[in-house]
Amino acid sequence: MNHKTWIEIDERALTHNIVALKGLLSEGAKFCAVLKANAYGHGFVEVARIAARCNVDAFAVDNIDEALVLRAMLPSALVLVLGYTLKERYADAINNEIHLTVYEKDQVVALEYAGAEHAKTAFIHLKIETGTSRQGVLPDHLYDVLEVIGASSHVALAGVSTHFANVEDTTDTSFANRQFALFQEVVGAIRNAGYRPEWVHCSNSAATILYPDTHGSLVRVGIAMYGIWPSEIVEQTVRRHNVPLELEPVLAWKTRIAQVKSLPAGTPISYGMTEVLRKASRIAVLPVGYWDGFDRGLSSVAEVLVNGIRCKVMGRVCMNMVMVDVSAVPQVEPEQEVVLIGRSGRFVIAAEEMAAHAGTISYETLTRINPLLPRIVI
Ligand SMILES: *Cc1c(COP(=O)(O)O)cnc(C)c1O
Repeated sequence: MNHKTWIEIDERALTHNIVALKGLLSEGAKFCAVLKANAYGHGFVEVARIAARCNVDAFAVDNIDEALVLRAMLPSALVLVLGYTLKERYADAINNEIHLTVYEKDQVVALEYAGAEHAKTAFIHLKIETGTSRQGVLPDHLYDVLEVIGASSHVALAGVSTHFANVEDTTDTSFANRQFALFQEVVGAIRNAGYRPEWVHCSNSAATILYPDTHGSLVRVGIAMYGIWPSEIVEQTVRRHNVPLELEPVLAWKTRIAQVKSLPAGTPISYGMTEVLRKASRIAVLPVGYWDGFDRGLSSVAEVLVNGIRCKVMGRVCMNMVMVDVSAVPQVEPEQEVVLIGRSGRFVIAAEEMAAHAGTISYETLTRINPLLPRIVI
């Protein structure tokens, strides 16, 4: 392993999570692996390959470029773009049978035009605004859009979808219940209008794990597939209700020591001299910094694992380097392995821990790991 900083992807753990989550699915529901944001920082191509081996039924990405990479790898997979697609890119979607998320009349009109031009069908998933106030057609405007779809011979309504705003908070499920009820009402109206969308989907990880009645014909699972609970309270709820689900973190982030030095009390560490040694200490320089995704908010607060011992970050995180206090580690040498996320000996640093230190959530911490770092599948 001749990288100074790298990501390890545990294929066995990823496979375990996919199989375990598939085991929770309601009758008739298929599994869509969400691969946006470089597969939550895990490595797009690496994760896609493993997920395909696990026979997931569909893949969701954020944009058409990711979709085209996937299409080249998996010629017959169901690929859905969750995010916005520029009209200039509709031909790319149509020519590669990429399903698009759509919610405006003029999108349907432009897709019909592009479909006719290429003599192919555009597959759309109509996204319903049920309360997240993000993408989606307001139920009040549903019939306007359906009318245009009905008049379009090159546009197929392949799916209907919505997205929960707060399903991770299990202490109050009333808003999620209302969103789901509204979604069901709209799906009913679409069926009454004569449409038979194959894919009806609204469940993210939290809903997939906790609310089987929301599964529809497809669930869109991101964070849980990577072995991370959507929130602490989702995990607690699972334990309380004895849901048979164990998740195993898939990603480990490692680096190797660049220098070790002993410094006297009173020595300031790193830019801004924000932290000064209270006693004589051994300091290791690590070749990883905020460019790599090791957030500057981790300055002076985060810990890393050296030989299974927790070592605190000292002073400010730099662009490509950070210093840690290795005084408590009996034997430290340059080029020795250091764990930033993952297990070392009896200790584990979870993505959630790093996120909490940086004042954010695991989703952001993971997706911000620089995509240029090597991903090694182990
Ligand atoms: C990211 C995303 C998901 C996956 O959410 P997780 O909480 O990671 O499972 C599902 N649906 C949509 C529309 C998303 O943007």
